[in-house]
Amino acid sequence: MASVASVIASTLPPSIARLPERTAEFGSLLYAWAEINSGSGHLAGLDRMRAALRAEFGRFAGAQVEELPCAGTAAALRIRMRPEAATRIVLSGHFDTVYEANDPFQHCRWLDADRLNGPGVADMKGGLLTLLAALQAFETTPHAARVGWEVLLNPDEETGSHGSRPLFVAAAQHNHFGLVFEPARTNGDIVHSRKGTGGLVATCRGRASHAAKIPNDGRNAILALAEFLLAASHVPAELPGVLVNIGNIRGGGPATNVVPDFAEAELDLRITKVADRALLLGRLEALAAPINAREGFALTLKGGFNRPPKECLPAEEALFPEWQRAARDAGLAPFSWIHTGGASDGNFLSAAGLPCFDGLGPIGDQLHSAREFVVVPTIAQRAQVVALFLHRLAAGEIALPPRAPAAASIQAPG
Ligand SMILES: [Zn+2]
Repeated sequence: MASVASVIASTLPPSIARLPERTAEFGSLLYAWAEINSGSGHLAGLDRMRAALRAEFGRFAGAQVEELPCAGTAAALRIRMRPEAATRIVLSGHFDTVYEANDPFQHCRWLDADRLNGPGVADMKGGLLTLLAALQAFETTPHAARVGWEVLLNPDEETGSHGSRPLFVAAAQHNHFGLVFEPARTNGDIVHSRKGTGGLVATCRGRASHAAKIPNDGRNAILALAEFLLAASHVPAELPGVLVNIGNIRGGGPATNVVPDFAEAELDLRITKVADRALLLGRLEALAAPINAREGFALTLKGGFNRPPKECLPAEEALFPEWQRAARDAGLAPFSWIHTGGASDGNFLSAAGLPCFDGLGPIGDQLHSAREFVVVPTIAQRAQVVALFLHRLAAGEIALPPRAPAAASIQAPG
């Protein structure tokens, strides 16, 4: 009698079925990649990491490999195969990490036989490896020639993708569907929507005076700003899906016998729907207005939204059951998809009208900390799902739903 594993394997094209046999190879390659420091601010390290990726992604026969300049940072890497095919997919990931060259966390270590601890192993060098493995398996399936793909790897995601953003907008226009390889959730869930992110600097100016002057005509900028910040912290209770975090505050001076004339704070803003943007900014301006109406005070708000929210699009709803079917047929445990507060480059693809799935990388946890780890066998498992989905797309078993018009775009911070 055939084992469950061999029954599953028999329904998959051989190159996809055999991916788990490469797990040790994936572990070594990921180890080597994670040992290359590619903090977002470390340009020489980003160049080294891009060269390492180019060495692997450059092996696809017939692919067009390009290094594309990004304003203010290292170049991105783009690999295109069959860009004129009738069905075109963009697969994206970032090769920067949050660990700069002077961070104490620079090296990998195995926690046990399956879990590798190291900088960027989950977020998202493990995702880049999943992407690579999936395409390697897909390219030898019988109908691969019917699907074109574009791999877009950027060097500045962790700092907001300010230089690479135009590449995502162009990719969204050229392709029909997007796959983003941020790590999966710890239970294997992928991501259907993400909050949009922005930030504001709230600057309050008052009037300095001696603290003991009678009558006192000072205007305490710290107190007025504190009043605004407390009120701002209550806005999420009024607007569901909106988050406001007061991240830092400064002001006053060394002398405590002076009424301070200056105070400033930075706020992190997150929204769930494009429409929340105007509501949130309007509400914050309204909270600043009564302070500005007082004689001697000026409270200004500067900033805006960088990444628009990624809302769940109808085309994604229509295709998610096919993604789950591919996962089931590859032998993965059942999983779902969720909303998450963190933004990714999927936000740019989605806002430009491109439906996409996100969180397709391996399972990992403790991102952005020295405890970051990835479950290495999930690299091959997730790559099997991606490759099987692409294979079914190429075979005509799955049809992509028509594109919706682009969501209202959000301006970069002013
Ligand atoms: Zn990431």
